[in-house]
Amino acid sequence: MKVIGLLGGMSWESTVTYYQILNRVINEKLGDLHSARLLLYSVDFQEIEWCQKQDQWNKSAIILSEAARALEKGGADCLIICTNTMHKVADQIQKAISIPLLHIADMTVEALKEVGLKKIGLLGTSYTMEQDFYKKRIEAHNIQVIVPDTDDRIQINRIIFEELCHGRIYPESKQIYLSVINRLKDKGVEGIILGCTEIGLLLNQKDTDVPLFDTTRIHAQKAALFALKS
Ligand code: GLU
Repeated sequence: MKVIGLLGGMSWESTVTYYQILNRVINEKLGDLHSARLLLYSVDFQEIEWCQKQDQWNKSAIILSEAARALEKGGADCLIICTNTMHKVADQIQKAISIPLLHIADMTVEALKEVGLKKIGLLGTSYTMEQDFYKKRIEAHNIQVIVPDTDDRIQINRIIFEELCHGRIYPESKQIYLSVINRLKDKGVEGIILGCTEIGLLLNQKDTDVPLFDTTRIHAQKAALFALKS
């Protein structure tokens, strides 16, 4: 089994979910007391979030590249970045290491292709919803990406940073998310990408008929299967 290096802590609330899913998938596949072989580098998210706000993406790329190199040196055979947003600097991080980086958007595209969806809604941070680095990577596979309107994007982003990243889970916020999902459904989307690793803490498939693609689950599940490939 390969050792998966996790670049986590962004936020640590969702890194916990990665840890659980990775171990559960490996145990389902191998049985007995088998569990995932993992290395975790959990960053100080305050520093990273400061870089995001100040538009200092290069600085965050340097911090994360250093952490990725430490994981490689420690024995990781592959790397996952446990946040969608920081995939904005994924190319720079990949350049800093020689192990493969398993990109969260590529794995999400695989999941969309498995069910043949062509028009998808995207929820995430403002950076993920509004900038090109994430949407374009999905659209390159002929999948149309629709994001919420401005007011809805502000709410979605606010709830991520002010609530979910602090582990605050409120029913009112779940209702806000479900209303946004319904408005995207009215625009003809066939499913929704939960394109922020904390959204799964707030809602899941039981809450809506619209198919959800939770990037945390997809990323962790596919990384675990990758670790088992020879
Ligand atoms: N974990 C979130 C994501 O998947 C947001 C935190 C961050 O800005 O990295 O985008």
